[in-house]
Amino acid sequence: MPALVLILGDQLSPALSALRDIDQDDEVLLAEVAAEATYSWHHQHKLVLIFSAMRHFAAALRQQGLQVHYIDYGQQIPSLLAAVQQVLAANPTLDRVRLTEAAEYRLASEISQWPATLGIPVDVREDDRFICSHAMFRRWASGRNQLRMEYFYREMRRYTGLLMTPAGPAGGRWNYDADNRSACPADTVLPAPQWTEPDDITSEVIALVSREFGTHPGDARTFRFAVTGKDARAAFLHFVRERLPLFGRYQDAMRDGDAFMVHSLVSVYLNCGLLDARWACLQVAQAYEQNQVPLAAAEGFIRQIIGWREYVRGLYWLLMPEYKSRNFLGASRPLPGWYWNGQTRMRCMAQAIDHTMQHAYSHHIQRLMLTGNFALLAGLSVEAVCDWYLAVYADAFEWVELPNTLGMALFADGGVLASKPYIASGNYINKMSNYCQHCPYDVKQSTGENACPFNALYWDFLARHQEQLAGNARLQLIYGQWQRKDPALQQQLRERAAWLLGHLEQL
Ligand code: FAD
Ligand code: SF4
Repeated sequence: MPALVLILGDQLSPALSALRDIDQDDEVLLAEVAAEATYSWHHQHKLVLIFSAMRHFAAALRQQGLQVHYIDYGQQIPSLLAAVQQVLAANPTLDRVRLTEAAEYRLASEISQWPATLGIPVDVREDDRFICSHAMFRRWASGRNQLRMEYFYREMRRYTGLLMTPAGPAGGRWNYDADNRSACPADTVLPAPQWTEPDDITSEVIALVSREFGTHPGDARTFRFAVTGKDARAAFLHFVRERLPLFGRYQDAMRDGDAFMVHSLVSVYLNCGLLDARWACLQVAQAYEQNQVPLAAAEGFIRQIIGWREYVRGLYWLLMPEYKSRNFLGASRPLPGWYWNGQTRMRCMAQAIDHTMQHAYSHHIQRLMLTGNFALLAGLSVEAVCDWYLAVYADAFEWVELPNTLGMALFADGGVLASKPYIASGNYINKMSNYCQHCPYDVKQSTGENACPFNALYWDFLARHQEQLAGNARLQLIYGQWQRKDPALQQQLRERAAWLLGHLEQL
């Protein structure tokens, strides 16, 4: 009973569960379809990445002797269902469909209707590229009042054995985050990431994306990500050798003109399947065991993958679809137009957005403490901000984007993911970067025409949401500071914030 094995654009892994016991009579399908290319206003680099990686993956499967159907974008197939129907109609011996579960709720729901629509069995297998299964996450979450990442992470350390000794966590502590908060001096030379020059297949896709998606964010012609597992692994090993030793120390730092700092860029490859999360963590654990990287760097990195990455995926599947409609703080202001082009005088925001538009990438602190923090302080529409994050990053897929944006950055889930809102005034940005030295606004001022917008917006946010947030134990100190301020100053701050909120486009 030969099956049609459908492989989605973020499932480009040779060890994929749907491919595991593939038979010579089975046939494989990969399809570049309009619905997937347009459900979000995807950055051009993301489209090049997925299409080119799919084409390379299809070629590798053919080399293994498998029969592969590849539907390219030019064939104008509207949806994955239509692609499956087309191949089944032309190949009547195929009497079932097999695939690995979709990572996003939207697509998984559509696929759950396929057995009825197609009238044949559709075998959906678990995606065991993730280390924590849905069942395991549900078990961990059940009965807990709070679903904090730190406790989940400890379970995952025990489960994987990564950085564990018979006596407990390596070095005696679970978490070295406190050692990972240094700013990075402007003259420190940081090694650059390893890039991949486009080959013929990628060049063809770049031309296609420039032609068909030229109005989307970014410029396809500057694409330099790896598009094969082999090149992604080489880029990652380069990171481990050259950049990981500094990763812990400068993990939270930002620097004018520096888009990547010492971050790994590995989400781009993990999320489409070119890299395996377990393999990446093992490389890092091994580098620590061979004394090539400090424990704080290795632990900091592994925590991001087996902790944060697995945790947000678990949370997404636990709480969807209701999670997507949450808006705890009632945020609804339109997104200023400069989120799409970086044309704001705020140097920190201009840099984060400019990097995003150029590279379909910005690092975590830029996403959280610049573009996210500003959106939270200004009460920008949760839906519009989530749409923005889903569109502009090469690593953006809803299972990981939504909990990070709605939960971590915007506190719209009311504290499921974060124990308090991630808010910061200009003071924090100035401490962790040198942006303020290049900014026309004055980070030391909170009121007045030239004052850093983050300052008044910070206090106004706290005042505006006092009813919802004042009971939060972790905000007591800050609310105490607010209450001790002279009422005249409080009023000036709120007036400055009201002006800023009324003139967001002009900042
Ligand atoms: P590194 O700093 O080198 O970290 C290593 C890896 O750890 C990342 O590649 C990623 O796989 C994992 N990781 C770290 N933090 C997180 C996290 N909070 N959630 C999930 N995985 C994490 N990550 C995405 O992969 N896709 C997204 O669409 C996405 N959207 C985000 C939106 C917002 C508002 C915020 C605050 C964060 C978002 N993140 C997202 C998480 C994180 O910012 C990125 O994973 C990271 O910046 C990717 O760059 P890197 O690979 O260089 O990361
Ligand atoms: Fe950003 Fe304010 Fe610093 Fe300007 S002064 S870079 S707006 S934090």
